[in-house]
Formats: sequence, C-alpha cells, structure tokens
Amino acid sequence: MSEDQILSMLEAWDGDGVVLRFDKPTGTWMVIALHSSALGPPTGGTRLKVYPGLRDAVRDAMRLAEGMTYKWAGLGLEYGGGKAVLAITSPLDAAERRGLMHRYGKLLETLGTFFTGADLGTSAVDIAHMAERSGQVLGINRESGEAMDPGPFTARGVLAGIKAAVRHLDGAEGLAGKSVLVQGLGGVGRPLGRLLAAEGAEVLLCDAQLERAERMAEQIGGRAVPSNRVFTERCDVFSPCAVGGVLNEETISTLGCRIVAGSANNQLQVEDDADRLAKWGVLYVPDYIVNAGGAMAISLINDGMHDRDQLFQRVDRIGEAVAGILEEAAASRSTPLATARRRVDRLLADHEETLAPSSGLA
Ligand code: NAD
Repeated sequence: MSEDQILSMLEAWDGDGVVLRFDKPTGTWMVIALHSSALGPPTGGTRLKVYPGLRDAVRDAMRLAEGMTYKWAGLGLEYGGGKAVLAITSPLDAAERRGLMHRYGKLLETLGTFFTGADLGTSAVDIAHMAERSGQVLGINRESGEAMDPGPFTARGVLAGIKAAVRHLDGAEGLAGKSVLVQGLGGVGRPLGRLLAAEGAEVLLCDAQLERAERMAEQIGGRAVPSNRVFTERCDVFSPCAVGGVLNEETISTLGCRIVAGSANNQLQVEDDADRLAKWGVLYVPDYIVNAGGAMAISLINDGMHDRDQLFQRVDRIGEAVAGILEEAAASRSTPLATARRRVDRLLADHEETLAPSSGLA
C-alpha cells in the first residue's frame, strides 16, 4: 500500500471529500466518502469488510459514494451521495465489534453531515449499536431501538423494475408465463422469489449453497439451477441478487436471458459492459435504479412515513422510473445505463450552484 497512491486518488476525485479515522483498539480504518451534497445530505450505507489495504478501502468507499449520488438523483430524492467502509483486518468478536460501532457512531455524530444505515457486512445489531451513539443512523425504530430490514422493500422495487422491462420488450402486463432466474437467495432474493411466484412467473433459483435453492424451489414451486449454469440458463429475466461484477466480458457472451434486472450493486465489471450487453441483445436495467427500494423506504420512514402498504406503493414507482429510462434509451438509441447517467447529470447540473435543500432529516 502506498500513501502516495492514496493521496493521488483523493486529489483526483470529483467528490466533496473523504474522512479517514484510525480505530486503534481494533486496528480498523474508518473511511467515510462524501461524494455530493448537491441534492441533500450525503447518505449511504456503512460496509464492514477485510480489504487487502487502505487504498482498496478508500477506492471502494469513493466508488460506492458516487453510486449513491446517482441512486438518489435517479429517483428524484433529496439526498446526496456518501458511503462508509469499516476496513477491519480480521473478524472481530461481539465485544470488539460493539466497541467499534460505538466509536464509529461517535465519529458520525461529531461530523453531523453523513447519514448511514446497514450495508454488506453490517447487521441490524451493528446498526443499533451505532444508533446508541448517533442520530445520524437511519432505518432504526427509535422507540424499540430495532433496525428495519430493507430486503423486502428492495425486492419489491426489483419486481417493479422487472415488470416494467418485460412490458417494454413484450408489451405484456404481468409476469405470467415469464421465466425469471434469481441469483442469490438472501435478504433480497428470498422475498423476490416469493413475489415472482405470486405473480405467476416461472421461478428459477440459484445460490452458492445449492441446498438453499432446492429448499426454496420446493416451497414456492420453482426450479433450482446450479451455479455453473446460472449465466447460460435460458430465461426471460436474469436477476443478479448476490454479488457485484457478474456481468463482464467473459459472462455476457454466454447469457441465456433477454433482460437483466437485479439488486446486486455494481453488476457490471466495467461501464463498457453496458454496450456489450446491448450488442448481445440483452436489455440491462441499471442496478442503482432498480435496487433502490430499501434505501427509498428507509428515507421515507425517516421522513415520517410508517405505513407499510404506503411504503410499498412508493417503492413500486421504481417501475415508472425504469419504464421512463427504457423508453428514453430506445428513442435516443443509447443504453439504459447511459440514459440514466445523462438524466442524473442533467439534474445535478441544475442544482450545482444551489445549497442543499431541507430533507427533513435533521
Ligand atoms: P445476503 O448476504 O442476504 O444474501 C446473498 C445471497 O447470495 C446468499 O444467500 C449467498 O449464499 C448468495 N451468494 C453469494 N455469492 C453467490 C454466488 N456467486 N452465486 C450465487 N449465490 C451467491 O445479501 P442481500 O441483502 O440479499 O443483498 C444481495 C445483493 O443486493 C448484494 O449485492 C447487496 O449489496 C445488494 N443490495 C441489497 C439491498 C438490501 O436491501 N439488502 C439493497 C441494495 C442492494
């Protein structure tokens, strides 16, 4: 790891800035990347992970913070882009972890600019511990101290996006008779699988743990697909809900689907993969638009909306956002990714010189 490389990365970044704090008791670097406050306060999850070095942690936080700027703006919500990572060096025991979350919570409170919630590696318990030291933590029921699970809301948004994409390609209302392959049966993939089955779709299920897919297939009347067939399996929709980077030079030319729409962050290995997908005849729904349901629900709850049905209805509007992007992309002969980016860049340019509007988060 080279200090110079980190400094050049910080200098070259177009974001607002990066906060670094070393936590001596656990040897953890806390990295908070603030990309943009043009539309509102920087807001994004906190990831906990072992990184090869500090440079990788800083790079990940910056990239994810930028993604959050696009996610919020793409949905027209008044939040800015930010993301944090807690770069641990090895797994922590419960007491060490609690101490880390408390000290991180104190840092959040001192900064007073960054709002956060759960992300990869951070649990509801971690979030509750952060919230014991800071009011900057979202997705917490302040009376019970319990953290909410964003998975069902994310799943609902993905479903709305899948339906919009199918309507765009086939003119079909609903998913009856359409095959959808869900990769990753965790907090998002499980509720998504159930929603798809309820819609009358043919549900194909894949997980790194095959038994998990087989068990769920039995429960909802779907079919398990082994991991080595996940890309090539013939289906209408492939929904990556496991890990990032699954769409790349190697996998795209083997895809057996017509549409990709799923919750995993950073599904494309590089941006050019969006063009590669278009050339292969696959309609790609940008991940940061279609996977925003959980973040959206958390922000709405924070703004005072608590009724679950009302929250689901708002999340369903992700379908309208997806439909709009797909129509504009088709009309302008560009990819949905380039169209989404153009829309957001327009919006951010309009706000560039204005101060962040009130978001109701205070
Ligand atoms: P999770 O950890 O609960 O579940 C992930 C599942 O994927 C696990 O069942 C795991 O066994 C499986 N898996 C891991 N690698 C796999 C592989 N290579 N092939 C097949 N299965 C694999 O995660 P989650 O909360 O369901 O989130 C899924 C993805 O969606 C993540 O990339 C996450 O960053 C993203 N995301 C989640 C939310 C949310 O609300 N939870 C919101 C936005 C984005």
